Amino acid sequence: MEWVDLKQLDTLIRQTKVLGADVEEIGVSGEGRSIYAVSVGDKQATRTVVIVAGFHAAEVIAPLTAISILQTLTENPPPPVRFCIVPVADPDFVSRNANELPTNVTLQALLNLNHQRDLEGHFTTNTYPECVAIRQWLEHFDRIDAYFSLHSAHCISPGLFFYVGSKSNLGWVNQVASQITATTPNWILLLSHDPTGLSQKALSPGFFELEISEREKLNGVTPGSSLAFVTQRFQPQYVGASEMPLAVCPALTEASLAEIDQCNRDVKQAGHTSYSFQEIDLDTQLYIMKSWIWSVVDIAAAA
Ligand SMILES: [Zn+2]
Repeated sequence: MEWVDLKQLDTLIRQTKVLGADVEEIGVSGEGRSIYAVSVGDKQATRTVVIVAGFHAAEVIAPLTAISILQTLTENPPPPVRFCIVPVADPDFVSRNANELPTNVTLQALLNLNHQRDLEGHFTTNTYPECVAIRQWLEHFDRIDAYFSLHSAHCISPGLFFYVGSKSNLGWVNQVASQITATTPNWILLLSHDPTGLSQKALSPGFFELEISEREKLNGVTPGSSLAFVTQRFQPQYVGASEMPLAVCPALTEASLAEIDQCNRDVKQAGHTSYSFQEIDLDTQLYIMKSWIWSVVDIAAAA
């Protein structure tokens, strides 16, 4: 998988069909592009894992992770779990970013991808036809055992973290966290607190609780996330979102959000900063994203 594969996502999705996946058009975007859902694995499986990638279109590791998972699942015998995946939730904005990606993809080029709107934050509203289509698709499920919304921090970050929905099974959360602690390369710090301030509660290093609002607040007027929507309909055992960074800068561990932002602006504009940082290459990002998802799938398959 390469960053420039972003330019051929539809082709890669259609290839999974040749390899045996069920590819379904579940709706069309505002500009008329297809929104696909791809299902792989035993239709009779009692466990269902749902993954949606790309609610934030500039966080381009998300669709690449989804495609990479589909490729792995079609090449190898999948675990006894049904996977249902939307690899590109916002095809219009992802294609704008893909068009701007140079052939030689640098960190600065990735940081400068800026076509993005907040489909995650407005998931429960009718603002975006993409969200309406994905909601209607989700409503057909009988059950969802684990739900993932794939995101990246899309920046140089002090380290790595994931959000976990507050209604998740804590036994699962702890097992996943210890698995990730064991498999993440040790130069990538699992953060002890959320640098964005969104979560105040660390469940484990690198895993922060995301409060899921009560049902009555999801009334179609107050915007809610896909994590809240899925939680309230299906009560999955595990609901999570990734925040994979493009590079890590341990010197920013105690920095304020403003200082982190300034460092990112420097690299975006000038290509360098006074802080030393280390890029996380694409293969390592994919490895971590997939390790996280497989660790949940293994628990789901055994449950
Ligand atoms: Zn995001």
